[in-house]
Amino acid sequence: MSNKALIYIELDNNKAAKVSKEIISHALHNFRGFNVDGIVLGDKESINAALDDLRELNVQNLFIVQNELLNTKNTSLYAQILADFIFDNRPEILLIGATEDGRDIAPRLASKLNIGLTADCTDLQIDDAANLIATRPTYGGKLMASIASKTTPNFATVRSGAFKYSASLCKCTPNITYITPDITEFIDNPKIISIDYKQVSEDWTCSDVIVAGGLGLTTKENFDLIYKLAELLKAKPAASRAAVEQGWAPQDIQVGQTGNSVSPKLYIAFGISGAMQHTAGITNSDKIIAVNTDKDAPIMHSADFAIECDAVDVINSLIQKLSN
Ligand SMILES: Cc1cc2nc3c(=O)[nH]c(=O)nc-3n(C[C@H](O)[C@H](O)[C@H](O)COP(=O)(O)OP(=O)(O)OC[C@H]3O[C@@H](n4cnc5c(N)ncnc54)[C@H](O)[C@@H]3O)c2cc1C
Repeated sequence: MSNKALIYIELDNNKAAKVSKEIISHALHNFRGFNVDGIVLGDKESINAALDDLRELNVQNLFIVQNELLNTKNTSLYAQILADFIFDNRPEILLIGATEDGRDIAPRLASKLNIGLTADCTDLQIDDAANLIATRPTYGGKLMASIASKTTPNFATVRSGAFKYSASLCKCTPNITYITPDITEFIDNPKIISIDYKQVSEDWTCSDVIVAGGLGLTTKENFDLIYKLAELLKAKPAASRAAVEQGWAPQDIQVGQTGNSVSPKLYIAFGISGAMQHTAGITNSDKIIAVNTDKDAPIMHSADFAIECDAVDVINSLIQKLSN
């Protein structure tokens, strides 16, 4: 009998969330000897709207828990339903995206199941004994810890962008099982009276092209050119932590271990040295172009194209060419 890896599929705008797709894709490609199953929770309307997208995920079994009370993200109710399901179905591995909701559901679930949780992982592998080895930064990001859990299911949350989504080679149609949960016993405490949704901007980390600037740009005025170039390239701007610390860019566009992980088709790094903590966030980029005056800067060795040049000169000439 195969081992089972269960992935909680979060819904985002009537689709499977990006991070859920990334986890499934990684599991399908790397978890040999495992059935990769998914579980999704929602009301009828949201499930029906997401169904085509969910079918494309290529999980072996898709469990759909449908109930009208699941129309809001009541994370304690979600955790209760997931705990009941896991208790009955006993997967060996359990994975959740480290989103806002995922970070709320996961500890509740770990507590209900009395199991350990490795949070905010950046890599997942299976060892020879079919245990999950979950890797995450530790000691403020100075070390990467690979953690094997002693409890079952081996449970981890995974950072968005840690893996790249790629369609599975096998176009399998999942076996779909609808589950009607018994939530009569559920005590909603505290009770959610209403939820105000805040309009958030589009997730820039999903952009195909990202233009990033670092300390080599030397001034805020020079860093502002990153925004201009990004706009002309229909790309998104990003920054190294050093640039953020200078106050040239907001923290939410920081890339790296303590910032965001990105997986664009093209990542252009201007005046960024390529410290390990920065490159940890860009390893899933298809192509990296680095512009740096120091040919021996670490990023110049790992980039697909290394341009030894003044970053501001290159940005200005690109802006000039693209503006004409
Ligand atoms: C726990 C921890 C977590 C961290 N997390 C992150 C993180 O999430 N993200 C992150 O980015 N960093 C992170 N860091 C910081 C990281 O170690 C580096 O200090 C940081 O990435 C350096 O940023 P930088 O490359 O912009 O600056 P520098 O390392 O100072 O590099 C500047 C580069 O610009 C080049 N340069 C100079 N002048 C020019 C010019 N005119 N044209 C072109 N190139 C030029 C230089 O040759 C140099 O390579 C973390 C550090 C720690 C300890």
